[in-house]
Formats: sequence, C-alpha cells, structure tokens
Amino acid sequence: MHIIFAASEIVPFAKTGGLADVAGVLPKAVAAEGHQVDVFMPLYNMIHCYDHGIYPVEWLQDIPVSMGDRQVYFSVQVGKIPGANVNIYFIDAPYYFHRNAIYTNDPDEGERFILFSRAVLETIQRQGWQPDVIHCNDWQTGLIPAYLAHNYAWDRNCFGNTATLMTIHNIGYQGRFDKGLIYHAELPQHEGHPGGTLEFYGSFSMLKAGLVYADIINTVSERYAVEIQTAEYGHGLEGLLSARAQDVYGVVNGIDYTIWDPATDPLIHYHYTPQQLAGKYRNKKALLKRMGLTYDENIPVIGIVSRLVTQKGFDILVEAMFNLVQQDLQFVILGSGEYRYEEFFRVAAQTFPHKIGLWLGFNEELAHQIAAGTDMLLIPSRYEPCGLTQLYGLKYGTVPIVRRTGGLADTIKDFDGKTGTGFVFDAYTAPAMMRAIFRALKYYQDKDTWQTIMRNGMAQDFSWEVAAKKYIYLYEQAQRNRKTG
Ligand code: ADP
Repeated sequence: MHIIFAASEIVPFAKTGGLADVAGVLPKAVAAEGHQVDVFMPLYNMIHCYDHGIYPVEWLQDIPVSMGDRQVYFSVQVGKIPGANVNIYFIDAPYYFHRNAIYTNDPDEGERFILFSRAVLETIQRQGWQPDVIHCNDWQTGLIPAYLAHNYAWDRNCFGNTATLMTIHNIGYQGRFDKGLIYHAELPQHEGHPGGTLEFYGSFSMLKAGLVYADIINTVSERYAVEIQTAEYGHGLEGLLSARAQDVYGVVNGIDYTIWDPATDPLIHYHYTPQQLAGKYRNKKALLKRMGLTYDENIPVIGIVSRLVTQKGFDILVEAMFNLVQQDLQFVILGSGEYRYEEFFRVAAQTFPHKIGLWLGFNEELAHQIAAGTDMLLIPSRYEPCGLTQLYGLKYGTVPIVRRTGGLADTIKDFDGKTGTGFVFDAYTAPAMMRAIFRALKYYQDKDTWQTIMRNGMAQDFSWEVAAKKYIYLYEQAQRNRKTG
C-alpha cells in the first residue's frame, strides 16, 4: 500500500506533546512492514533545515491555493524521517508557519491548517501519486477527508482509490472556528448550516469534518475509543461517534525504544537495565543536584512531566499539594501551560524549596532525566487518550501513579502486593489520588517489593511493531469501507 501520513507535529522536528512522538515513529514502523509511506508536516521556523538535511523540491515551488478571495502560496521541501527510508515533505509557507509557536491563538489559526491540508493534496497531485490511504491526525488535518469528498473528488486518477483514516489523539482539541471560515476553506457553505457536516454547535469544527468524512476513525487506546462515545468524555462529539460506532477503533500507542531506553539513552547520565539498576540511583542523585534538592535514598521522588493544563489533573493536584509536601517525599516537576498552574508551582517551589524542584518550559533532555532519575511518575489525568509518559516510566523503572482513565487504564495494572506495574485510582478527587500516592509511599519503604514493581514495569513491551500491524489492518478496513460505503 502507499500511505500518506499527515500531522502538525513530528519528532524530532517539532513537538508539543504525544502526537509528535507517535508521528515520528508510526510511519517508520508501517514502512518496516513493507509499505510505502510519505509523511507531511508544516515547515515551522524552529525547524533548522540545514541540520536535518531538508532541501527544496525544485518542481514544487510557489504553488497557488485560493483562500476565499485571496491567493496564497506554498512550496515544498523534503527530508527523511531519521532511522528510516521514509520521506517527509515540509509545507513551506512562511507567512503562516513562521510564528513563535507551533499552535497560536492568532486570528488566522484556522487558515494555517486549511493551507496545510490543501497543500498535502496539491502535492500528492503534482507528484502523480495514487495513494491507497491518507492517515489524518487531529483537527489540523481534519479537512483532508472533507476535501476529498468535495473539492478533489473530480480527480479520479489520483484519488479514485484513496481511503482516509482519522486518528483522534485528543478530542478536547476540535479546531473550532467561526463559520465564516468555511468560505475561506472553499468547502460547501450550506454544510455550515445547522445539521450540516461542518457545523458544530453554531461553529465550524475541523475535527468534526474529519470524523464525518473519514472512511474509518480510531483513537489511541481501546478504553478511550469507548469513552469518547459518552457525554462525559465526548466533548460534544459523542453522538456522531456513537452513530459511527462500527467504524471507531482503539489502538494503544507504542513508544520508540530507540529513543526511550535507559540502557542506551544518550540524554541520561548513567545507563541501566532491569538486572543492573545501580545507574538509576546515580541518575537520581544527578537529577536532584541539577534541581537543587538533597538526595536521600529513603525519600522517594515523584516526577511530573506534562503540559500544565486541567486535562492532566492539575486541579486535584493543586488541592492536594499542601498536604503532600508535608510527607516524606520530593517532587521534580517539568511542564509548561496555563498561567495559573505555572504560577501555582512557582510559588509552591519558592515556599518549599527542599521539597519541590521545578522547571517551567519545554526541555526534552530534562524529560529523559526525570524518567530516569525519579522513583514515581504522577499522572492524575481527568482524561487521557493514551498517555506516553507512563509508558516511558515503565521502561525506566519509574513507577506510574495514574488515574484509571483512557490509555492509563489500558496500560497500567494496579499493584496488588505481587503483580502489577503501578498505582491506580478511580475517582477524580484529591483524596483518591492521595490514597494512591500513600500506598506507593508505603511500598517504597520495602526495597524488595519496590524493585519487583519496577521490574514488572520494565518487562512490559509497548513497541510499535504490534501497533503498526493494527494500523495496517485499519488501513485495509478503511479501503473496504470506501468501496462499500
Ligand atoms: P499529551 O500528548 O497529552 O501532552 P502524552 O503523555 O501523550 O501527553 O505525551 C506527552 C509527551 O510530551 C511526552 O513525550 C512528554 O515527555 C512530553 N512533554 C510534555 N511536557 C514536556 C515538557 N515540558 N518538556 C519536555 N517534554 C514534555
């Protein structure tokens, strides 16, 4: 099969969260199964072309796309996904993609990804490809299935056999804009009227467009695939998703063990394995030094690496924090996000400097060092489509404490005294979270039992090979749906 994979962030080029990790490795894993994969993403100004060996494609320069009553232009540059023979095409439109951040609140945020979606299709046409599947990821690529149904349906030579898969990495981000944008997107305006395929509670949603028009839909864990069909987790899209229930699948993400393995990770100070854990304790010492905390082997360190947003459970953590810092434990926190949480942790770290080490911002190296140098990782999410940090925690022998939701529920098994890989709580409340933390603290004091939990986690295998095969099945299923539907 020839698969086109489109995403708005991809490791190692640009990243804000888990989507980038997935998009950096899934195309490689699918290609390793013998398929042709071509990848697309925007060329943001933080991507240094020279360093990554990215160069312009001569015959794909200054291509016009109409944006309502304006003409905009894009060019294409090409590079390789590291470690694989997979081409990645960068959509170069400085006017749209040279900003301070990958995502913005600028008034033309919608236009940026209209341009990206159209540029993917325009490039496919100019390359003379006839893709079997276009794999779209999140709202930034949600318009692609709608374009194939409307604006590009005439091109049967190119897209006559092209099926689409829409992957939801987080249903909380829906690409909602004013309905006026439908005109700029050049999609049928009547579909913006109530009940139309592009209309969503009076606005225009690019994610909804993808969910309506894609041949098949999936999300990144089995549990989340069921959850998003309910009012509690569906963010208003539960009706549409349950109407399409037979087309909605869940595939748990894998992780890239060439990047995330404590035996080889170049970003950590000391390497270690389940048999040889000494390096882990040395990493802990080094991390605490870096964060200005004192090392004590009997005091457990809880790590947090996260976007600082309510989804990740920070409202209950804020409620519990004062109580938690009274316990025998330390925190190392790395994150960036909402001002109120950044401010809370800044004040907390100033007030309890011996208990809390804090780094506000995005720091890939420190994220690896926290995975390696802490004893526990706290992920109390309100909802969690899959979650990757708990999977990194498992591999690094850093025991996850998680809420039983979405992918956290699918990947972490509560420790029952013998089996299990972490500590899991159900109710989304500060007391329920604290009970799980206190259970972990109790087991931590028994070194043998704690090492059993660590090794249980380190023995788990979330490699992409298994998940890639499931995606290939979904691609085939998308093609069957296209033919019959
Ligand atoms: P989400 O995609 O919802 O943010 P995931 O757990 O799926 O959550 O993925 C988060 C990814 O982003 C992980 O690779 C994590 O290490 C990384 N990450 C999150 N915040 C930071 C940060 N401040 N600095 C470095 N890496 C971060």
